[in-house]
Amino acid sequence: MKQNLKYHLKNKLTPKELKFVPSSFDVVGDILIFSEFPKELAKKEKLVGNAILENYYNIKTILKKTKKYSGKFRTPKLKIIAGEQKNETIHKENNVFVKLDVEKVYFSPRMSSERKRVAELIKPNENVLVMFNGCAPYSLVIAKNTKCREVYGIEINPIANKYALENIKKNKLENKIKLFLGDVRGIMPKINKKFNRILMPLPKGGEDFLDLALKYIKKGGIIHFYDFQHENEIHKAEEKVKAACIKSNKKFKILKIAKCGQYSPRFYRVCADFEAF
Ligand code: SAM
Repeated sequence: MKQNLKYHLKNKLTPKELKFVPSSFDVVGDILIFSEFPKELAKKEKLVGNAILENYYNIKTILKKTKKYSGKFRTPKLKIIAGEQKNETIHKENNVFVKLDVEKVYFSPRMSSERKRVAELIKPNENVLVMFNGCAPYSLVIAKNTKCREVYGIEINPIANKYALENIKKNKLENKIKLFLGDVRGIMPKINKKFNRILMPLPKGGEDFLDLALKYIKKGGIIHFYDFQHENEIHKAEEKVKAACIKSNKKFKILKIAKCGQYSPRFYRVCADFEAF
């Protein structure tokens, strides 16, 4: 699609303008989102958007990000540049449907192979906790594709949790997934349950919650801790795990440091998979 986008615009833009046509975008359901739409094409954004709509029938709305993921809910600010006036869509990945509002809920289609990777590690009968559940993509993929016993998901953004509830119904997974709305610090002591596996998909600031994950992981259980790191400092994710384990008086064994996506040039989203004792 990237190369084709320029092809479809070649009679509509000057050669100079064509060079600015963005090569980076996400497709969430039937919405296409440009992460960084160039200011050089600001006056041509509708034209670019309409060219996409004319050539890709599965795309109904074109958005551009006007502010990156931010705040506690990790949501972006978006502007509709062409197509239907909507932010809600249904995305399909790893055998599940994920419905969401792309401006009110964090979601990244780029994480689908990472969700698959984690799901493939899950053994029969595990009980799994997803600490920062969003609209539930991890919970859905795990509950649908593995023989786990149950998945608990905790999310602080009420709109994300509303979609999560709708998504578990849509995917007929009500019997396997339990959702909790609120701050993990308040909710986990109330649930007061230990898990075989805990996922921590909050790469910005997730280390502040490692103590909590370590408290509620079963002996020999596995934690997936996400972090952002510079390509030369990937080892720092392991150092964060080590510092937290020392503080919580736990032993640990790193199983893998997985690079799971580029966040910005030279910065990676990494996942430290570790066993805690
Ligand atoms: N797991 C989802 C996914 O992969 O699409 C969402 C990941 S997003 C990076 C992090 C999520 O954590 C956001 O939905 C945010 O609202 C939620 N969050 C942030 N702090 C939280 C807290 N203290 N307790 C519960 N959820 C929190």
